[in-house]
Amino acid sequence: MCVYKFNNDGLNIFVSTTDIGSFKTDAATKLPPAESFKRLHEKTGVPLDRIVRPNLANDCYHKKVNLADGGRGVLTSKEIIKDIDGLITTDVGLYLAITTADCYPIVLHDFRKNILALAHGGWRGVVGRLEVSLLKRMLTLGARLEDISVTYVAGICDKCYVQHDQYLYDVFINKYRYPSNIVGKKGDFYTVDIAAASQHNLRQAGYRGSFNNLNLCNFCDEKLFSVRRDGRNTGRIITLVGMDQ
Ligand SMILES: [Zn+2]
Repeated sequence: MCVYKFNNDGLNIFVSTTDIGSFKTDAATKLPPAESFKRLHEKTGVPLDRIVRPNLANDCYHKKVNLADGGRGVLTSKEIIKDIDGLITTDVGLYLAITTADCYPIVLHDFRKNILALAHGGWRGVVGRLEVSLLKRMLTLGARLEDISVTYVAGICDKCYVQHDQYLYDVFINKYRYPSNIVGKKGDFYTVDIAAASQHNLRQAGYRGSFNNLNLCNFCDEKLFSVRRDGRNTGRIITLVGMDQ
């Protein structure tokens, strides 16, 4: 098994495993990892010039992209999109991609209007309500709230996200006033449920639909990279999401 594949509500979602290699940008050359992308293409069949992958900033800004952006962050001949943690498109055939190793890729999709968004859901993106800004952008592009589906791809589950200091507790509970059930007790420490915090954001923004969680915890599953399990120098997973042609 090299790639996990899901087909949900007119969406194709691919998640790379450690067999394919890391999708971290090469620190020395600043170039995309060509060998990993080559294997990704072989295993998914997705043309590399149909994938767009931004350079993440752990912030809450997004960008609308189209087929002409295909290959950015993937092919060395194309300029990467810098400092963006969310992508949105109306182009069927374009695959949105982000790299992660604990954070959640959050997918929003209007299957009637063919509007697709992907957010990098780390704790900073979630308290910055990145997924809500993408939801609102979708509505301005003609999406209807009742036609939108929300999917959480491979991220660290609520049992595995253990915090050993007070910092995130203060951020989520004392500063941003999230409901107390997004933190849980684990021995002398506590856990944080990032997906639940994101879902709270979307509910507050008026989303009433269901949440799909692919239940793929990258910390539990050793075929997926995890910074919290393996350290900061470990590899990165790539998640691809595109609309059915
Ligand atoms: Zn887990």
